[in-house]
Amino acid sequence: MQIIGAVLETSGAEAPFAVSRPFTVGPLELDPPGPGELLVRIEAAGVCHSDLSVVDGNRRRPTPMLLGHEASGIVEQTGDGVTDLAIGTRVVMTFLPRCGDCPECASDGRLPCRTGSAANAVGALVGGGIRLQRDGTPVHHHLGVSAFASHAVVSRTSVVPVDDDVPAEIAALLGCAVLTGGGAVINAGRPAPDTRVTIVGLGGVGMAALLVAVALGHEVVGVDALPAKLATAMELGASAAYAPDEALRATSEPANGNGDGQSDAAGLAPLVIEAAGSARAFETALALTAPGGTTVTVGLPAADARATISPLTLTAEARTVIGSYLGSAVPARDIPRYVELWRAGRLPLERLVSSRIRLDELDAAMDRLAAGGELRQLITLD
Ligand SMILES: [Zn+2]
Ligand SMILES: [Zn+2]
Repeated sequence: MQIIGAVLETSGAEAPFAVSRPFTVGPLELDPPGPGELLVRIEAAGVCHSDLSVVDGNRRRPTPMLLGHEASGIVEQTGDGVTDLAIGTRVVMTFLPRCGDCPECASDGRLPCRTGSAANAVGALVGGGIRLQRDGTPVHHHLGVSAFASHAVVSRTSVVPVDDDVPAEIAALLGCAVLTGGGAVINAGRPAPDTRVTIVGLGGVGMAALLVAVALGHEVVGVDALPAKLATAMELGASAAYAPDEALRATSEPANGNGDGQSDAAGLAPLVIEAAGSARAFETALALTAPGGTTVTVGLPAADARATISPLTLTAEARTVIGSYLGSAVPARDIPRYVELWRAGRLPLERLVSSRIRLDELDAAMDRLAAGGELRQLITLD
């Protein structure tokens, strides 16, 4: 069938992208779903830093590629063997298909699926091959999803169904920002009840981590270089919000000695989540973690980024550092949990939507994302 999509022509375009225009919006041919696959009509798609990383070349992927990996849509057709999803079901797209058979899939979310990762790396579907063409030339899939389009063919293992009461925009956010940020808290960090959680980097993922930590009753401190993000963090329930240098200064001030065993006096937290994707943010997160505490890193810095770390503090202060891909999530297990929190009014995910755009506004959207002023820009298709 013919679809409309936004194709990234090459990786590594010059900024500003509103000028270099790396995307082409136009018609493509989409094959019907193969065995174990679905045709999904896309309803909403978020613009994420992992899309920007392919655009600016920080993370090279095969091109041309139809980007977009955080999305929701309606099942329009099912391939052979898909018997558990009715036509018309709303699904959350997730960016790492899970084969269910490899040793990594048996790791309870800690490790990304081997087969799914291999397919993602070559821009194919996990079932093998490519379903998208333009003028007879293959166009690669992005992380098994390729949602900057009117329709997508995806593996059944890339989606999680949700009930009709979950709006399309909320469903889209669940697939990347909430799975990753929320998972950094509930799967990787697992903070003790009522302890402080500090979050470094308040983009879509960091702010989702903040919302989940607040929903679970934690005292949350937000850290970001942009004052507007700090104001948003306070509105969303943070008890304090600092620029990185302010936060670091607070750690060197003397404790106020209230003796309640909490680490608040020194500005340190038992759990710190790094969601900025830079080596400097990782160093800040380490410095803000209390002795005995845990630093979780979910950001994706450039492959050649290097951070400085004192091994002695890891040993002498009994610290833990956890790397968490996709929030160590098992999407089919975790998404219903976030839906329950949202339904109970405890997880106001609507607040993550900072603007709504059209497919042909993606170039400028990437500039705004790079500037750091956005949480989630959502492409709505209807
Ligand atoms: Zn993402
Ligand atoms: Zn697997």
